Amino acid sequence: MKVLVINSGSSSLKYQLYDMSQEKVLAKGLCERIGIDGVLKHKAGDKEQYVVNHTMKDHNDAIKLVMDILVSKEHGVIDSVSEIEACGHRVAHGGEYFTQSAIIDDKCLEAITDCIALAPLHNPAAVMGIKACQNVMGKDVKQVAVFDTAFHQTMPEKAFFYPVPYEMYEKYKVRKYGFHGTSHRFVAQRAAAMLGKPLEELKLITCHLGNGSSIAAVDGGRCVDTTMGFTPLDGLIMGTRTGSLDPAIVTFIMEKEGYSPKEMNDFVNKRSGLLGISQLSSDLREVEEAANQGNHKAQIALDILCYQIKRYIGSYIAAMGGVDGIVFTAGIGENSATVRAKSLEGLEKLGIAIDPEKNQVRGKEVNITREGFPVQVMIIPTNEEWVIAKDTVNLVG
Ligand code: AMP
Repeated sequence: MKVLVINSGSSSLKYQLYDMSQEKVLAKGLCERIGIDGVLKHKAGDKEQYVVNHTMKDHNDAIKLVMDILVSKEHGVIDSVSEIEACGHRVAHGGEYFTQSAIIDDKCLEAITDCIALAPLHNPAAVMGIKACQNVMGKDVKQVAVFDTAFHQTMPEKAFFYPVPYEMYEKYKVRKYGFHGTSHRFVAQRAAAMLGKPLEELKLITCHLGNGSSIAAVDGGRCVDTTMGFTPLDGLIMGTRTGSLDPAIVTFIMEKEGYSPKEMNDFVNKRSGLLGISQLSSDLREVEEAANQGNHKAQIALDILCYQIKRYIGSYIAAMGGVDGIVFTAGIGENSATVRAKSLEGLEKLGIAIDPEKNQVRGKEVNITREGFPVQVMIIPTNEEWVIAKDTVNLVG
């Protein structure tokens, strides 16, 4: 069965075509600058990347172009579009409607559209991508939605309520939702496989550390808490996002700097985090390098990140009454030996220590626990597209 995985942004569209019978990616690519002019970057198997300028006035045009390239003589990987049996879409927000992935029908699309109020930057793009696939591929090709929030819907009320008046939840659905759920679910399942134990018997802490970062407490396969909140701004310091703040700082800075709500939103989302503190870069590689060369602000940024990871790990051990495994994933989690080492430094009394030599790996699935320590620390590369493809097959059958 061939499945197309789609991740739509407001002016971009990423795609991967899977052959699920061989568990293989046949081709992948990216449409950029949709609605502006249009660039397609396409890679088929081991062939060189093919880049072409092509006008795409909307997501319909982008999907049409993807279909054309997938069947083209020179760059294609299939003979006919009809070989694609289903499409899986990444959808940022499923609100309280979705606790798992779902086949997209009118009711489902209505619910995703309803969640635009909660994810005004992300859900409109998902809706555009879904509608474009329905238009271009026809109603016979099943569409499936996989939500970043769904995995976290198992959180108990004490974890997801914010202490603001209850009517804010009733009127506007203000609560913690959590994000990166597809990634947390995937690495938790992989961790259980690596440890050779049923997921239901494990207490895991999964650290998805990338440009956006979140940590989840996964008890018996169910998420019981996570660091991102009502939006993906909450929790850890990120590339350009603040993470958690004393909320009074927001109004204080708005008054002092004369910022509008929109300007303040940009300030906390785009000008803060590692970039804001280091005054150098949102990219951890550059921050690490500068810190190594004695740049004090870069060192503070790196230290904040590692200290916060440690604090959340500690709090999730308390929340779950113990931990069997800690997982590091995504760009930073998979690649930065420094962040992994510093985040877990000094936790020997909690049964946590990593082997400095085993820790010197990048992007590989590996157990890096120091011998004799009970808590298993693992690096597990995430693969959200794979989960979307797998969920699609499972739902479509
Ligand atoms: P992601 O959002 O998952 O693509 O992760 C992006 C982040 O991973 C950026 O902050 C990168 O600097 C970081 N990253 C990627 N490779 C490395 C590396 N080798 N060492 C440290 N950080 C890395």
